[in-house]
Amino acid sequence: MSASSTLPPFDPTDPLGIDDLLEPEDLAIRDTVRSWAADRVLPRVAEWYEHGELPEIRELARELGAIGALGMSLSGYGCAGASAVQYGLACLELEAADSGIRSLVSVQGSLAMYALHRFGSEEQKRTWLPGMAAGEIIGCFGLTEPDHGSDPAGMRTYAKRDGSDWVLNGRKMWITNGSVAGVAVVWAQSDDGIRGFAVPTDAPGFSAPEIKHKWSLRASVTSELVLDDVRLPADAVLPEVTGLRGPLSCLSHARYGIVWGAMGAARSCFETAVAYAKTREQFGRPIGGFQLTQAKLADMAVELHKGILLAHHLGRRMDAGRLRPEQVSFGKLNNVREAIEICRTARTVLGANGISLEYPVMRHATNLESVLTYEGTVEMHQLVLGKALTGLDAFR
Ligand SMILES: Cc1cc2nc3c(=O)[nH]c(=O)nc-3n(C[C@H](O)[C@H](O)[C@H](O)COP(=O)(O)OP(=O)(O)OC[C@H]3O[C@@H](n4cnc5c(N)ncnc54)[C@H](O)[C@@H]3O)c2cc1C
Repeated sequence: MSASSTLPPFDPTDPLGIDDLLEPEDLAIRDTVRSWAADRVLPRVAEWYEHGELPEIRELARELGAIGALGMSLSGYGCAGASAVQYGLACLELEAADSGIRSLVSVQGSLAMYALHRFGSEEQKRTWLPGMAAGEIIGCFGLTEPDHGSDPAGMRTYAKRDGSDWVLNGRKMWITNGSVAGVAVVWAQSDDGIRGFAVPTDAPGFSAPEIKHKWSLRASVTSELVLDDVRLPADAVLPEVTGLRGPLSCLSHARYGIVWGAMGAARSCFETAVAYAKTREQFGRPIGGFQLTQAKLADMAVELHKGILLAHHLGRRMDAGRLRPEQVSFGKLNNVREAIEICRTARTVLGANGISLEYPVMRHATNLESVLTYEGTVEMHQLVLGKALTGLDAFR
């Protein structure tokens, strides 16, 4: 018997056999999220995208809560206590449907809930986390300002003490989930340095106008946060952190999810391109039979599965408590950049159909332009790695 006859067959959907690294429970979670996205997102997402809205966001949040996808890798307070790998698999499946849905989940779980879970008081955790895990309360995370994006240290939003109260003034920009949030985690300068606050969005002086006219992440709510003399009690501050370390550690957790998620968008485009190439005929044969098309598909498959393997490796390090922020930067930089390349190449395989919303390719490609920028731009992650490699800080 030849050696190859004892080998498992080649699986075009998993050419490296990465699924062998997963436990049955990992596969079950992945299947649950995949089938939820297939039922609830895929049939409607092109329409939401076309209209630039996410009209069912509250129902979707509750359903995501019911399948345990919100604050998934956190423990207690109604959270699922899943592993980092399981959380990553969920992000991949959600972003294979649409980056906007994955953003909803990332901001809820990895930014707003993570901040409260890691830096909040026991009372803040009990007040907010169970409702957020269930999707009854949507959270947002306000760090970016109109004049301070990559360099949040210069933020102008200010929290001033007035007796035992805090009074917040300022503006945040490009805040995912802002207009639908029940609680906003807001980062502000104070006399003691940068502090985080749990701001109930019905507090007088708080408003969150939605940002329109986006040509990317259209099936996602993005807002300004306006804080105009918002008075909060003393216990609204997150007691366990002062300084930029607070928001940056939340961002590191969310970026980790993006390392996986970006590969979901890429997988969707790759699968679309393969299916199209096998059926679309030109010059009397399927375009998938031309060497140039096969070269594109082979290169896309290589980068897609290398990216998934990288995500898996980082997930295992996170589960072992050994994942460094520089390694997250490595993953985000590579996987989002390669995902965009895969989507753009898929677009060419589909020819003119590649620009149509009938196919998911252009939607993913334009979504990934936001993913490339938020949670640290490509350049910021290059600078993080550049500094780690040389010991020289090139940020300023
Ligand atoms: C759809 C969407 C959703 C978002 N959601 C949220 C959210 O929920 N919460 C939140 O707080 N923020 C959110 N953001 C904001 C996002 O994090 C910022 O846009 C991002 O940090 C970049 O900031 P900026 O847009 O101000 O760009 P800038 O910081 O002004 O950067 C502009 C360009 O200059 C480059 N640059 C800046 N400094 C340097 C340097 N030292 N060296 C080399 N190049 C440099 C950047 O890399 C970039 O290419 C969201 C953004 C988008 C698009």
